[in-house]
Amino acid sequence: MSDKKRVTILGATGSVGQSTVDLIRRNRDQFEIGALTANSNVEALASLAREFSPQVVAIADSSRYGALCDALAGTGISVLCGQEGIVEASALPVDWTMAAIVGAAGLQPTMTAVQQGKTVAFANKECLVCAGDLMMADIRKYGTTFLPVDSEHNAIFQVFENTQREKIERLVLTGSGGPFRTVNREVMASATRAQALAHPNWSMGAKISIDSATMMNKGLEFIEACYLFDMPAEKIDILVHPQSVIHSMVEYADGSILAQLGSPDMRTPIAYCLGWPDRMDAPVEKLDFVKLSRMDFEAPDYKKFPALRLAREAHAAGMSATVTLNAANEIAVAAFLDDRIRFLDITNIVEDCLNHQEMLPISSVDDVIALDGIVRRLASRKLDEMS
Ligand code: NAD
Ligand code: MG
Repeated sequence: MSDKKRVTILGATGSVGQSTVDLIRRNRDQFEIGALTANSNVEALASLAREFSPQVVAIADSSRYGALCDALAGTGISVLCGQEGIVEASALPVDWTMAAIVGAAGLQPTMTAVQQGKTVAFANKECLVCAGDLMMADIRKYGTTFLPVDSEHNAIFQVFENTQREKIERLVLTGSGGPFRTVNREVMASATRAQALAHPNWSMGAKISIDSATMMNKGLEFIEACYLFDMPAEKIDILVHPQSVIHSMVEYADGSILAQLGSPDMRTPIAYCLGWPDRMDAPVEKLDFVKLSRMDFEAPDYKKFPALRLAREAHAAGMSATVTLNAANEIAVAAFLDDRIRFLDITNIVEDCLNHQEMLPISSVDDVIALDGIVRRLASRKLDEMS
């Protein structure tokens, strides 16, 4: 038996996936790869597979299956496809899984990884937003170790004293405020795709970059934090911090506030999760306080960024509403990226769907998937009405 940590990367070709690969590449002696998955990018997936020789690769887009088989002919690597293939890859026995698929598409694979009872590093926030109660219940049931990758939640995880949970008064989720922090809604109304994608501090996938511009990302992270840390909504504050150096904080009853700081580079939280419980090297720029010279803070603007209010309201209303929030947002963000709607329409569509979608009881992943589909169709009809 090798003493290497055996890891699977779900969403290996994405921004978080590539950062994870980068750390593994630099530490080849410590890791071996079980499975790698991607949506449709055969070239990127095949190139990773040739480099790392995983046991299995899976591609969600079945029409790309033949091309992937051709690209890996003679390697002995098993090739799977479709949503079933991704789920099968997620069930491969490994020590550690990076859940970095974007959107609710990651729900079943991530749940499957959780049900293996090993360690899951959680980047895919949408699956917690959709199914937080179910996910946390399975984490307890299968004794799974759960590590938050999202920089804010990773920061909180690093300074969250579990034995002092009663003495935790507040979690402070920081956020940069995104590319439109300093402009008004008139300017936001005519924002282009390129402007909305231009995050001031972080380099990320397209969907989360748009979510950062609407601040829906912070709304989703608020819901994510409620589940991950089992904290009531009123104990979670959002604070705008344009430099993205303090990644989040925990305030204790004695007035102490513990924060985790660092350069805005996802390889720090990913390395924390990859190495856990030990720390490992990450090739990130070390924080230079003199160069930084100052840190600024602002209250979030709930009027300018209605996504923050919508996320809090949806969380208070329950899982049916958070599934609706997420599905409508995914459809609206995709439509904005396709130049079908304007920037402010994104949150208008989400609010419209929340107002019109009847609340349904959610007690299983199948219920979540069914409602997710209903809301996607509702949001698509709203898009059609607009054009
Ligand atoms: P990305 O778009 O760069 O990558 C997404 C990955 O998911 C790709 O590998 C893609 O092939 C795969 N994928 C997409 N649709 C799929 C589908 N239908 N079925 C199977 N696989 C599919 O996204 P990202 O920025 O890496 O973000 C991934 C997740 O991590 C998101 O939930 C995001 O919110 C979260 N996250 C990202 C960052 C970041 O810095 N990028 C930070 C914190 C949290
Ligand atoms: Mg984050």
